[in-house]
Amino acid sequence: MAQCDFRQSVECLARNGITKTAVWREKLDATGVADAASILRDHGVEAVALCPGGLLTHRDPAGFHSALGDNRRWLDWAAAIGAKSLVTITGGLGENETDLRFARDRALEGLAMLVPPARAAGVRLALEPLHPMVCGNRSVISTLREANTWLDQLDADDVMGIAVDTYAVWWEPDLQREIARAGKRIIAFHVSDWLADTTDVRLDRGMPGDGLIDLPAIRRWAEAAGYRGPIEVEIFSQRDWWTRDPDVVVRTILDRYGRSF
Ligand code: ZN
Repeated sequence: MAQCDFRQSVECLARNGITKTAVWREKLDATGVADAASILRDHGVEAVALCPGGLLTHRDPAGFHSALGDNRRWLDWAAAIGAKSLVTITGGLGENETDLRFARDRALEGLAMLVPPARAAGVRLALEPLHPMVCGNRSVISTLREANTWLDQLDADDVMGIAVDTYAVWWEPDLQREIARAGKRIIAFHVSDWLADTTDVRLDRGMPGDGLIDLPAIRRWAEAAGYRGPIEVEIFSQRDWWTRDPDVVVRTILDRYGRSF
């Protein structure tokens, strides 16, 4: 939550009985990895993932290698806080770049290069396709179908998985089939809602139950595919939920659980 620092977020989760959380990289960086690990431990909250990693579409070799170095560091951070995965987005197109095919090839090349360090760190890379409206600046892959095909090519399922974010893929025509195809590759499941009157496709996510996504159906499909991990409620909401008392946000999520997702 943007209204809290790392410690305040963890305290809020703990006092509301929530024992797992994904950790946002910027918050971790601001707090320091060692301090964050002890804050989590002291409050009995487990880090399930660190996000986001990736951002691998640079054309210039120096930028690309620096991005790989960043990811190796983030894998170590994830291991240090006990997170089992690094949620990985490809990144969008670089400045003045229009070659989408190049960006996709570059990101796939980068992912392949991250397989050995991920294995060494004992942290899985959870590839997360994002909604096509953010293809230009966040992710050059937009569908679960592409994520599945990439994982087929990478052939490293011991260390590569997929993050299914309902907000990103709810519109996908073959979603049910692609979730079944992903099967055990699904290692993260993110929920929020798509508001009919959304004003920002990245930072105006809705509380589950307030929008257009059939979250219970997608959750059933994921569970039918074998997913048994946590359900992460991920609401970037600059105009609404980030302006509220964090305890109200968490209590609203708990109230919606089982009913809206
Ligand atoms: Zn997500």
